[in-house]
Amino acid sequence: MTDTSLLDAALSPIAGTRATARIEGDRASIILDVTGLDAREREAIERDVKAAAEGVAGIATVRIALTSQRTRRTLIAVASGKGGVGKSTVSANLAIGLQRLGRRVGLVDADIYGPSQPKLMGVEGSRPTAKDKLLEPVATPYGVPLLSMGQLVGADQAIAWRGPMAAGALGQLVDADWAAQDTLVVDLPPGTGDVQLTMIQKHKPTGAVIVSTPQDLALIDARRAIELFVKAGVPIIGLIENMAGYACPHCGEVSDPFGRGGAEAAAAELGIDFLGRIPLDIAIRSASDAGTPPAARNGPEALAFTGIAQRVFHWIEQGG
Ligand code: ADP
Repeated sequence: MTDTSLLDAALSPIAGTRATARIEGDRASIILDVTGLDAREREAIERDVKAAAEGVAGIATVRIALTSQRTRRTLIAVASGKGGVGKSTVSANLAIGLQRLGRRVGLVDADIYGPSQPKLMGVEGSRPTAKDKLLEPVATPYGVPLLSMGQLVGADQAIAWRGPMAAGALGQLVDADWAAQDTLVVDLPPGTGDVQLTMIQKHKPTGAVIVSTPQDLALIDARRAIELFVKAGVPIIGLIENMAGYACPHCGEVSDPFGRGGAEAAAAELGIDFLGRIPLDIAIRSASDAGTPPAARNGPEALAFTGIAQRVFHWIEQGG
């Protein structure tokens, strides 16, 4: 007969106060509180607790039940080294693509330099209300509710925010009343400033998607953005190459004036996955300007976005 205190002593360095153990004969039953942990952390703690319990003399079988007070949302950060590479366009279409695949997605527009999501999502001029001090996301025609820095102060004023103000506003957007949404896509400002640091330190993204153009990849900026996440232990889901090749508005054929395959090679060199390329296509720009993101429809321009959304969807579903 094993004493519970032996088991407690074995579990405490791994699980602290998260584990409550009971022993019956040679069987240990452990309740493990995994509140606040993401899928990867849950798996790790469950595995370590099981191994530690099995190592205690006199215990033959171990049963573990996981409990959680609140499920953690999947946070997908969309980042780029510099502006104008299509990060906002990708964020909007990724959010819609993930929603169409069955996730319940909310979109956070944290890009203080150009909070363009209200326009891209067809709700320009909208303002969120607040209930019990929590912001209520604005509904969009695509089933993806939205909150934008631009809705808080007006698109042209957000850029004047000092770091702490922008960081505080990010908290209001991420910790808003997202209700049943299980996934938030966060459109970050370009580069590696205060908003990114706050996102990483306070809101701990589940993973990050990096958007770049073929030209940008050679530059140090995209690599710096990647490094910021890697150093903080945020997994990079992969790299998206936007404006890759030119889609002819007449025949749809994609030509590659700058050559092809550079981004994939760069991703391999950086040790990250390549999620796909999106052509430079006038139809993408005009649909975006009209507030009708291509991923919401089934046209040819939607294809590239759909493929990328599928890859990110699988990454999430496999536990991140
Ligand atoms: P960022 O968020 O990186 O600053 P945006 O998403 O705002 O970039 O895109 C910048 C401009 O480029 C917008 O006018 C957008 O419509 C256009 N754009 C983005 N991606 C494409 C593309 N694949 N084809 C054509 N135009 C694009």
